[in-house]
Amino acid sequence: MKRVLQDLDISEIENLIKDAGERPYRAVQLWECMQRGLPVSRAPVPSSLKENILQDFEDEPVRVKEVFRSADGTEKFLFELADGNLVEGVLMRYNYGNTQCLSTQVGCRMGCKFCASTLHGRTRDLSAGEMLATVLLVNRLEGGTAKERKVTNLVLMGSGEPFDNYENVVKFLRLLTSPNGINMSPRNVSLSTCGLVPEMRRFAEENIPLNLTVSLHAVTDEERRRTMPIANRYSIREILDACAYYFEKTGRRYIFEYSLIEGENADEAHARALSKLLKGKPCHVNLIRLNEVKERDLKGTDEKTAYRFLGVLEKNGISATLRRTMGADIGGACGQLRASYLAEEN
Ligand code: SAH
Repeated sequence: MKRVLQDLDISEIENLIKDAGERPYRAVQLWECMQRGLPVSRAPVPSSLKENILQDFEDEPVRVKEVFRSADGTEKFLFELADGNLVEGVLMRYNYGNTQCLSTQVGCRMGCKFCASTLHGRTRDLSAGEMLATVLLVNRLEGGTAKERKVTNLVLMGSGEPFDNYENVVKFLRLLTSPNGINMSPRNVSLSTCGLVPEMRRFAEENIPLNLTVSLHAVTDEERRRTMPIANRYSIREILDACAYYFEKTGRRYIFEYSLIEGENADEAHARALSKLLKGKPCHVNLIRLNEVKERDLKGTDEKTAYRFLGVLEKNGISATLRRTMGADIGGACGQLRASYLAEEN
């Protein structure tokens, strides 16, 4: 595989152009083309320069292989990377803007029992430039530019564990939020982790004040170990301490994801225990009814149970919302699309 141009920042692009013996404004032209989500071959620079660049760099590191459109407007993309690997992404439409859900790894090695992304393990990490190219591409397909973005919000909740690809994810976030580039505010970005405590603490020091989201899905370590192998490494107590540290460093409240699984974590007693655990903390709870994954035997709760759970949290003064499931008709849950694609191929 050739190199990915989107891995470079503006000064690295300037050096590339200088080394090629070209005038500095060519760097600006190339950079602007890239920020618009266009392939190198469409840059308004001499073809000799393009040929020179394309000897070392991919023309398009990410391509759309397929798009699925849901009745509710959600779009699900299957992207193909330059080496043929597949990752997925989703674009959800809300009245305040469009949120793109981004993958950070091909597959995942965290092994959560309810998640389709991890069914085939982890194949490889995405580079910073591959993640950026995915955002720039979707923004272009939606008719946006670097200045008038159509992708207004980003959630790192696709396949992969962002903190298992720490360096690339941090580099990506710096490119994404750079004023030279698409210039997205970290406040419009959410990063979800299954709770890698050392990386959560390290990230608190990076000065990227985004919305830190932690997949909790249980109220005791024992119950958490049943569905999330990572619970064998870090306790809920250590996770809560790392969250408090993030708040101390950034002033940003943090969010917990809690997927309601029938017969597992969704009783009123669980709701009371969760309230007790989070009482007085600067946090928010996102409840979601588990999206059923056909390869797994875990089921989501019914709506009534979910609202009852929400009611207990609210009564106890915990800020919480029950998320709508979007795009369920097109396999909206993590990794479902790629998993079904791989199953068809085999
Ligand atoms: N690895 C990261 C981000 C990826 S998944 C993490 O673990 O947080 C984004 C969220 O979707 C996580 O909270 C994950 O636990 C949840 N999730 C995975 N599979 C799901 C399913 N089938 N139904 C509902 N939520 C699911």
